[in-house]
Amino acid sequence: CLRKGAHETLDALQDELVSQGLIDEVQVLETSRIGNCSQGPEMMVYPEGVHYAGYTVDDIPYIVEEHFLKGRIANKFELPVKALGDEELRAPTAKEVRVVLRNCGKIDPENIEDYIAEDGYMGLAKALTSMTPEQVIDEVLASGLRGRGGAGFPAAKKWGFCRASAGPIRYVICNADEGDPGAFMNRRVLEGDPHAVVEGMTIAAYAIGSSQGYIYCRAEYPIAVQTLNIAIEQARSMGFLGKNILGTDFSFDLEVRMGAGAFVCGEETALMASIEGKRGEPRPRPPFPAVSGLWAKPTNVNNVETYANTPQIITNGAAWYNQFGTEKCKGTKTFALAGDVKRTGLIEVPFGITLREVIFDVGGGIKDDKGFKAIQTGGPMGGCLPEQYLDLPVDYESLTAAGSMMGSGGLVVMDEDTCMVDIARFFMEFTQEESCGKCTPCRVGTRRILDILNRICDGRGQEGDIELLEELSAQIKQDSLCGLGQGATTPVVSTIKHFRAEYEAHIREKR
Ligand code: SF4
Repeated sequence: CLRKGAHETLDALQDELVSQGLIDEVQVLETSRIGNCSQGPEMMVYPEGVHYAGYTVDDIPYIVEEHFLKGRIANKFELPVKALGDEELRAPTAKEVRVVLRNCGKIDPENIEDYIAEDGYMGLAKALTSMTPEQVIDEVLASGLRGRGGAGFPAAKKWGFCRASAGPIRYVICNADEGDPGAFMNRRVLEGDPHAVVEGMTIAAYAIGSSQGYIYCRAEYPIAVQTLNIAIEQARSMGFLGKNILGTDFSFDLEVRMGAGAFVCGEETALMASIEGKRGEPRPRPPFPAVSGLWAKPTNVNNVETYANTPQIITNGAAWYNQFGTEKCKGTKTFALAGDVKRTGLIEVPFGITLREVIFDVGGGIKDDKGFKAIQTGGPMGGCLPEQYLDLPVDYESLTAAGSMMGSGGLVVMDEDTCMVDIARFFMEFTQEESCGKCTPCRVGTRRILDILNRICDGRGQEGDIELLEELSAQIKQDSLCGLGQGATTPVVSTIKHFRAEYEAHIREKR
């Protein structure tokens, strides 16, 4: 939206409201992204809940005249969407459920009162005044919340391990080092609803028995860093952070630490090394961070989305949260939907929705009405799934069983014209570049895989290359130290498995 002129249209809107004598009646608030990124800039008009998108500075007088003077929808720019129940904020489609994104695009992220007006800090107040730390852990356990960073480990179990570790000092860390190409789920929450993360971390700190937390955010997210710092300052001034929170004897404070752009720092042990001021490299586990993490103290690491779910679980109860999702995967998941779909952007859907529903109902189908070829789930370490998986339910177990993964939430859709060998090469270029080099299988193996993919794509492929790719992939997966190396070859393995004929055709049709 910024790139498409959001600031310019905002200024034009304010000027037009002044010139029409409406500025005292219509309050204009700047918010975070509303979510239909391909169609920005966007605005929502309340209380009607009318969603406009794709306008320019020149269209502002028309929208003001139609909507604010004549009291009717300025049809040309309305983004027609279905109402979500009786919610004031409309969701892009009826298949979406907004739990994590409920405030994004709705409240002013730099105004704590906006957050409080949406029941913000109610969960923290409830936890501190009427629940023991153990009850908080039990409630989150009963909700079924699983870590949204990719592994899907039950969040409350992790909290319980950390609480049970010996010693008076424990740390809480939020992993906001989102680095998958094209993925911006966490960024949107941080920019649009930062207090949800601050509140979620504070509840987790109370449950674990921690007095200090860190948000590790990539430096490439300057707006997120700014909104977080403002949110932390506001939370402190209102008594939601700092000493004796809400008059209790619980104290907790937060600090933002910026990453320097290494993808591997999203791995929790590398992330902690980076916070300690060391080179951001993974280390073997055990010991797990819950036992020996930051500065060798028990540490809990969850990602942005996991913490952002927590306040609502405590406020509304585990039973409320259980209504969304499947038996094994409760709640919702945010995804960055990209590639050859008509409506790209950020979505939030309940677990159990099928890939078909995501692509065709939420994403509007394939661009230019072409045929579907594959969907890549799970970011650069995820697999490519062809048409026969379209009815696969989106949950951790199903995606893993199909040879892909949930990851943190990247979804790339490919149409019938996509070369799957090129796709494998694209993701391998990324992981090879981001390999930290600490262990040989990943450092050397990804380079060798990329060399082979390059020669196949360049028409210099040789008999036996496919088998060599398979053998190397298996070894790299088995012998690499961290998730980056272990998952680096998944795009290669999955494209060979489902689109082997394309590799063979490339090798056959040598230049
Ligand atoms: Fe570094 Fe790759 Fe080894 Fe991970 S697997 S430690 S990224 S070299």
